[in-house]
Amino acid sequence: MQWTCPIRVGAERHPESQALTFGGRRWTYRELDEGVGRWVAALQSRGVKAGDRVGLLATSHAAVVHLFFALGRLGGVLAPLNARLTRAELQPLVEDVAPRFTLALGALAERLPGAVPLESFADAARASPDSTPLEPNTPRVILFTSGTTGRPKGAVLTEGNFRASARGSEGNLGAHPGPRWLGTLPLFHVGGLAMLTRTAYDGGCLVLRERFEAEDTNRAIDEEGVTHASFVATTLERVLEARKDRRVPSTFRLALIGGGPVPAPLLARARAAGILALQTYGLTEACSQVTTEHPEESDGRTAGRPLPGMEVRIVSPEGEALGPGREGDIEVRGPTVMAGYLNRPEATRETVRDGWLRTKDMGMLDERGRLTVLSRRTDLIVRGGENIYPAELEAVLASHPAVQEAAVVGVPDARWGEVPVAFVAMRGGASLPEDLGAWCRESLAGFKVPARFLSIEALPRNAMGKLERTVLRQRALST
Ligand code: AMP
Ligand code: MG
Ligand code: MG
Repeated sequence: MQWTCPIRVGAERHPESQALTFGGRRWTYRELDEGVGRWVAALQSRGVKAGDRVGLLATSHAAVVHLFFALGRLGGVLAPLNARLTRAELQPLVEDVAPRFTLALGALAERLPGAVPLESFADAARASPDSTPLEPNTPRVILFTSGTTGRPKGAVLTEGNFRASARGSEGNLGAHPGPRWLGTLPLFHVGGLAMLTRTAYDGGCLVLRERFEAEDTNRAIDEEGVTHASFVATTLERVLEARKDRRVPSTFRLALIGGGPVPAPLLARARAAGILALQTYGLTEACSQVTTEHPEESDGRTAGRPLPGMEVRIVSPEGEALGPGREGDIEVRGPTVMAGYLNRPEATRETVRDGWLRTKDMGMLDERGRLTVLSRRTDLIVRGGENIYPAELEAVLASHPAVQEAAVVGVPDARWGEVPVAFVAMRGGASLPEDLGAWCRESLAGFKVPARFLSIEALPRNAMGKLERTVLRQRALST
């Protein structure tokens, strides 16, 4: 099987339809195809050949889109690095990738000695028509996982992974002629890249933003004909807060919510505001979505069923497959599972066995095959033999009217082995109310109620917006 670059395909089939908007500029497929051709020539003049890796340190920018597709036409591999990392954090990742060179956007170049400026990279080039056919097993991207535990590992994702992900997503959400996907997730994250590729394969338009901003997101929904968007729970929350009672135009179809625990009440609020918000479960190692709610049968309570072509199973710590209603480790199989970790044969063998990806997440399937994600295995709190999933407590705490956000971590305890401790940030910086324990007891079994409540100004999050539980655990131990 071989494929042609989707931007070239679009330029042949619907040259005048919009492919990309960014920073007040717009590109049709014809224009983007031409621009990508210039990037191909610029990369070639720098000696880039099939199999070569190119590093990238950038926030979202139209140049990143050009670079991504140009590298594809040459059989090259893009290694996007998280733009929030420090010089010291970047260095081992660059050594791991061993790129031919690294492109950096603007002042980010200061963090990487020897980086090549991104914006002007292809300015002087004349478009090259070269386009090597893409094959399923061609590595396209090396993406470092967020690394909330241990040193980041580079997941190698192939062209086949991205195609299968796009097909599976469309198979679940339904085909939409010319989708316009709002791109506020960073392109150095799998969610952002999957959005970019999905839109291109579907002949749609990526409405790309440099960063997420709640008011700007609402403006894009209201005034730019956006049909789809992807958020994490905290950004959806901010979008809803900023929207107030504004009506959602009928052009907007749905939003995918994932990347971390998704409280069902939040999705209900979104729906009440006119935004069909679907829970999705995914991870870098499976090229984004694995399961997603179906638009016509969503209730926000589960993460939905596997995308067409994907399989999910729940296994016990001993590796025995468990039936519906049983809690255990989530494993995933199918065409979106990564080729492996860069330079880590052992970690790869550990993580992918007989095609099954061990996600290190815990969950449960219901009778209809829908997945409930309970916790990351490492976040599970075991109190006197009872399992406590932090996300459940966090949802209860967050539903308290005075609470802005909350996180629960386990700390060692002489009597129980481990007990949950809650960190709570109050709206408007108020002090902790007296009734938090009672609030929890109303809806949670006694053993789940946090042993302590600690006030915090804001929860610590990493560059991906993911909660840094290790920071909280340390803090819980020292207070
Ligand atoms: P990453 O490691 O950055 O690829 O992020 C993937 C991780 O985010 C998964 O392994 C889960 O721990 C978490 N995650 C993603 N979707 C969900 C969800 N719907 N509910 C709970 N956790 C999720
Ligand atoms: Mg991960
Ligand atoms: Mg994620």
